[in-house]
Amino acid sequence: MLHTINKIGVMTSGGDSPGMNAAVRSVVRACAFHNLECYGIYRGYEGMIDGDFVKMDARSVKGIINKGGTILKSARSKEFRTKEGRAKAYEQLKKAEIDAFVVIGGDGSFTGAMIFNQEYDFPVMGIPGTIDNDIFGTTHTLGYDTALNTVVEVIDKIRDTASSHNRLFFIEVMGRDVGHIALNVGIGAGAEEILIPEEDLGLDRLLDSLRRSKKTGKSSSIVIVAEGDKIGKNVFELKDYVDVNMSEYEVRVSVLGHMQRGGSPSCFDRVLASRMGVKAVESLITGKSNFMVGLKNDIIDLTPFDQAVKGKSKINMELLRVSDIMSI
Ligand code: ATP
Repeated sequence: MLHTINKIGVMTSGGDSPGMNAAVRSVVRACAFHNLECYGIYRGYEGMIDGDFVKMDARSVKGIINKGGTILKSARSKEFRTKEGRAKAYEQLKKAEIDAFVVIGGDGSFTGAMIFNQEYDFPVMGIPGTIDNDIFGTTHTLGYDTALNTVVEVIDKIRDTASSHNRLFFIEVMGRDVGHIALNVGIGAGAEEILIPEEDLGLDRLLDSLRRSKKTGKSSSIVIVAEGDKIGKNVFELKDYVDVNMSEYEVRVSVLGHMQRGGSPSCFDRVLASRMGVKAVESLITGKSNFMVGLKNDIIDLTPFDQAVKGKSKINMELLRVSDIMSI
């Protein structure tokens, strides 16, 4: 059924990421540009169920493009996973006369939107916001570029200590399912080894590689470990293993954790968010629904939600080779 779109809701859902505010701003301003009303939905699906909506106009999003986190707050909603929860959400949207919504979040948020669309034929559009870059249908998710820059800056600082004390540092970065962050920051910060979920390097090869580094005159080493690394040992167990097997190194561990998710978005993420917000609104206006907006070959494109959710985001294998060559 073709829907007339007069009022669009926008929300952030799941884990926050830098660039979410820039995307909210873009959706709000694109609505204003096309003479549509826009409502912010607080706390993701949780706020949708509670009818926690706020009318937003072009001026209400001033001064947020450079802010990390999300002014609309984010949440995970158990209730929205139930039919009853989604029925409540639908009633609230109807009561507020909201005709469509844009959800900025990860694949869980898109799954929720897809189910809601199937049940109520309600127009929905998604913008990928997560630092892990683990979503199919876009080369970049919002916040990923910022996270890379944040992490590289921190590794540079750790390198100062590593080289001053001839130490080996294991640095754990985010990336449970895909190693985008680990691989890119590893190359960008000149790591000796990068352990990612896509490749099982194995403990022996890790030791060989570290021994080789030592032989070639390196006095300190940085090993980047993605959370989901396939060796199957956490970063502290890796330290213990190297401690036992390579007494020549003094080993330290640094787990970067949530600091990777925060901070002011990079210029790249701000521009990407602005482009994605406009595309999401204009796609809804032209009757499209159930898609995720993504970046492909520098073009903003749409991917059906079911593909975005089911597909696997793949690392660039060329980067693995480059990393091997660089760490000679
Ligand atoms: P992140 O990448 O940070 O994990 P995400 O969007 O994948 O972000 P989730 O917690 O998986 O985060 O999903 C966000 C919300 O989407 C959930 O709290 C829930 O309300 C809704 N959701 C997820 N999966 C479903 C589902 N199968 N049915 C209905 N709603 C869902």
